[in-house]
Amino acid sequence: MGARATIPIVPFTEQVTTKFAASEILNRLPLKAPLIAFRVPEVSNAARWKKHVIDGRMYEVAQPVTFTPYASAAPCSARCRFCSETLIERVGGKPSSAIRPREEYFDQLQLALRQLTGLPLSYSLSGLETTDDPEWMLQLLNVLRDHAQISPVEERVLYTNGAGFADPRYGNTLISHVADFGLDWIELSRHHFDEEANQEIMRFHPGIDIRFQAQFHDALQRLSADLPVKLICIVQDKGIDSKEAVLAYLDWAAAHGARAVIFREFSKLDGRYKDNVTAGYIRSSRVAVDALLEQCMGLPAFRNEFRFDRVTQGYYFWNIVGRYRGIEVVFESSDYAMMHRMHESGRIYKLVFHANGNLCADWNPQRHVLWRARP
Ligand code: SF4
Repeated sequence: MGARATIPIVPFTEQVTTKFAASEILNRLPLKAPLIAFRVPEVSNAARWKKHVIDGRMYEVAQPVTFTPYASAAPCSARCRFCSETLIERVGGKPSSAIRPREEYFDQLQLALRQLTGLPLSYSLSGLETTDDPEWMLQLLNVLRDHAQISPVEERVLYTNGAGFADPRYGNTLISHVADFGLDWIELSRHHFDEEANQEIMRFHPGIDIRFQAQFHDALQRLSADLPVKLICIVQDKGIDSKEAVLAYLDWAAAHGARAVIFREFSKLDGRYKDNVTAGYIRSSRVAVDALLEQCMGLPAFRNEFRFDRVTQGYYFWNIVGRYRGIEVVFESSDYAMMHRMHESGRIYKLVFHANGNLCADWNPQRHVLWRARP
């Protein structure tokens, strides 16, 4: 039985909602969720934990667990105003986004994966923009494919702004490789359906074709022909910030072949981060996703057609999943304070391989180091 199959999905009752971070919004909604999925494992549920030895030490690893080979081969093709990769921790040290892989990177990645052999994983391909360095990306897919031949890998998901897929020099090659690799889905960021409004948020560098609406539509269509694509919209002031904008976004997404849209709130930050420009933007431009969903429910056009499917409790996020006019719609919120607490528990909730050669149970390349390629 795969790790995903062990996630308890139970009927919604008053009793289970008390354990649930989204219970406040659930109590305010005029609809009841039919099901709740507990993606976060209870510590007492042995079936949700896998004992695994890394570098000679035994750990309890959550199931399912995602593994991210943090992409930092090139600076990102965009400069999103809210980019969490530009948040700086007060403790100092280089963030993963500032460390470029060296020549020995792929050898080290193979060694890190060897430490994980036998542990069921899901691949979560993120970091900076993976498609910005196509050569690096193709090598990465090869190493990950080899590991999946000898060790269980459940889901494979790519998080992307789509830049490489729209590049006329190699976009089609990348699309055929990711289709062969067998991604379960792609999360494709687009924070507004209007080209200029989106560019005001994402600030693609000059020469990056995906900034233009026609190129974005074309890439979305080519990707959707081979793979399920979920559009990611980070809701924010002057972006998607009202019920009318949500409906317009959904109409646009449906008309261009997306199978799902995720409306995501900025992660709630804790005191670890310096108050830099990004943190200031997040503070001043936050739109609460629960309030947005509540507003949408006030619109008969949305309320009458939205079918509430389930809610999910993750280890540092919750989401509400439904369907609207044939596409899946998700409203999602996350909390970095909760994430850091879980990472400090001594148990493993997340695995990240950083370009400094460290395999960590955290996004910080120097924290919760499980194994080092360079001792
Ligand atoms: S596309 Fe992602 S990595 Fe790049 S700037 Fe935007 S949020 Fe950051």
